[in-house]
Amino acid sequence: MTSRPIESSMDERRRFPPPETFRARAVVTDERVYEEAGREPEAFWERAAGDLHWFRRWDQVLDWNLPDARWFVGGRTNMAFNCLDRHLTTARRNKAAILWEGEPGETRVLTYWDLAREVNRCANALLSMGVRRGDRVAIYMPMIPELPIAMLACARIGAVHAVVFGGFSAEALRDRINDAQAKMVITADGGYRKGTIIPLKRNVDQAIADVPTVRHVLVVRRIGEAAAIHMVEGRDRWWHRALDGMRMDSPAEEMDSEELLYILYTSGTTGKPKGIVHTTGGYMVGTYLTTKWIFDLREDDLFWCTADIGWVTGHSYVAYGPLLNGASILMYEGAPDWPERDRFWELVEKYGVTVFYTAPTAIRTFIRWGADWPARHDLSTLRLLGTVGEPINPEAWMWYRKHIGGDRCPIVDTWWQTETGMILITPLPGITTLKPGSATVPFPGIEAHVVDEHGAQVPPNAGGYLVLRRPWPAMLRGIYGDPARFRREYWERIPGVYFTGDGARRDEDGHFWLLGRVDDVINVAGHRIGTMEVESALVAHPKVAEAAVVGMQHEIKGQALAAFVTLKEGVDSGGDVTDELRAHVTQKIGAIARPDRIMFAAELPKTRSGKIMRRLLRDIAEGRLLGDTTTLADLSVIQGLRERYEEDVQD
Ligand code: ATP
Ligand code: MG
Repeated sequence: MTSRPIESSMDERRRFPPPETFRARAVVTDERVYEEAGREPEAFWERAAGDLHWFRRWDQVLDWNLPDARWFVGGRTNMAFNCLDRHLTTARRNKAAILWEGEPGETRVLTYWDLAREVNRCANALLSMGVRRGDRVAIYMPMIPELPIAMLACARIGAVHAVVFGGFSAEALRDRINDAQAKMVITADGGYRKGTIIPLKRNVDQAIADVPTVRHVLVVRRIGEAAAIHMVEGRDRWWHRALDGMRMDSPAEEMDSEELLYILYTSGTTGKPKGIVHTTGGYMVGTYLTTKWIFDLREDDLFWCTADIGWVTGHSYVAYGPLLNGASILMYEGAPDWPERDRFWELVEKYGVTVFYTAPTAIRTFIRWGADWPARHDLSTLRLLGTVGEPINPEAWMWYRKHIGGDRCPIVDTWWQTETGMILITPLPGITTLKPGSATVPFPGIEAHVVDEHGAQVPPNAGGYLVLRRPWPAMLRGIYGDPARFRREYWERIPGVYFTGDGARRDEDGHFWLLGRVDDVINVAGHRIGTMEVESALVAHPKVAEAAVVGMQHEIKGQALAAFVTLKEGVDSGGDVTDELRAHVTQKIGAIARPDRIMFAAELPKTRSGKIMRRLLRDIAEGRLLGDTTTLADLSVIQGLRERYEEDVQD
């Protein structure tokens, strides 16, 4: 990318300041936090750390020796102690920590006291099976309370968890278990997804068939007989048996701030997944403060982050961040369209959810299904909405605001990564004036910039690379087992700064607009075009639900655009919809951004975390062999597209 302005006339002029009623009760309303934290970031993070429990206070807030950062140096603490024990001596002791609903409809409520008891019992069971401080434990589970219980139990005894999303195959699981050299796997006999049973335990059997490091498998009974599993003598143990008779207290290990808390593999949107390493003290402080400030958490809130705990969003904002704050969370096991397409809205109504956090891919799906589904439910308890995972198209943002937020809830569009551990670019809902499609500004104490390939800051509205100039507490400490890749991918692309891999521009107010991956900004006849903006133009058309735009080689223009489009339900792709969409993009952005090819698809290829996989669409558009497909949610979608694309080209 160069510093020339991106062709952009996506005139997004809508502005939403915090509503007075919201602001009046918000957790943070004083804009001076930005200036204060900017001036003295270490003192800022130190104040946040002071809210939490430490066995030993740190000697130094930050030791920064690029690329290695150490936070709260010399401090000793325990994540599980802070998520649980700290609340047990307060009025939160009998407050609901987790309100859980299974896909088939059963419910469970765990208070902080209940949760602490189960975590302690599980911690003792792990110890009895030989798991020790520093050992890695792979967790491969459905969204049931035993999943955060297992994570917290690991944290309590100082074991390092590596959660693998329950939708991954046996093969993907094996790669991750091997990479992490896990000593134990915690799983369930199965899980429910749209009424069918996911054979988790059987996948584990296959995955560890020839993995020598794994000594034990601990199995939660979720399904029962129907799962038809086989327990291997000496290796496998039932969770309920292993925990039975275990003591309800286990000492929390006094962990050094920089001891490993967990390893988590990225989504694989741009390539092969990496095992991102997070440590204890800084991650704890970062997730604690961002949860409190960004989601404006109050004692009486019910927070629902719809992410699976298998992704970083679930680690930081289903489990750790909310529990550190003593909040009540809703946890749901299943799919949004089971048994009907209003399950989420039914749950919001049933439990009285107040803060709701989801992903653009989900919002675009809801748009495709139509506004009648949410309209059937009373969503008036909602007071704040959030989004994460991909750039959100302004029209999807507006739909979310109107149909879910009743035109009254602020929306926090939060930018961050598995690597950053915590949200870094985001509004603060009591302060920031929102612009649909913009993640707005860096969190206090965070220094983000948009630069060219030499690291020089680009002028306002010019596209460039998003980089971070200063360490933040929850930043990754490395890629597990691959320090060279850590340096190469994040610290050597532009020396001296953290390279995010995302493209962005910053507008005249200093607000950030994420443009997608750096590879998603292309050059058509000498003009830089962010494919994200073309997608947003397409999504703004009333017939379009979702769009993915990629660049392909073109003899004359250098690169040209190919668009893959999903129409709203009931809309026919026949007639002249193609011409209509081309004309629409021309009008919104300019002829230069008009896609050369438009292909309609019932579904777009996505990662298992729901992100559009543009790199595979690029492979199709350029007639190449497909790259790594192991993290695809559904391989048949991309295969179908490829066949149709090739037939089309021959016509
Ligand atoms: P991999 O790194 O393996 O290719 P991934 O980048 O999809 O996978 P994650 O760490 O889950 O793995 O996702 C982080 C990325 O998601 C960010 O780099 C960014 O591209 C995108 N993202 C997250 N939140 C936002 C947001 N609010 N706006 C725009 N993009 C976002
Ligand atoms: Mg990434």
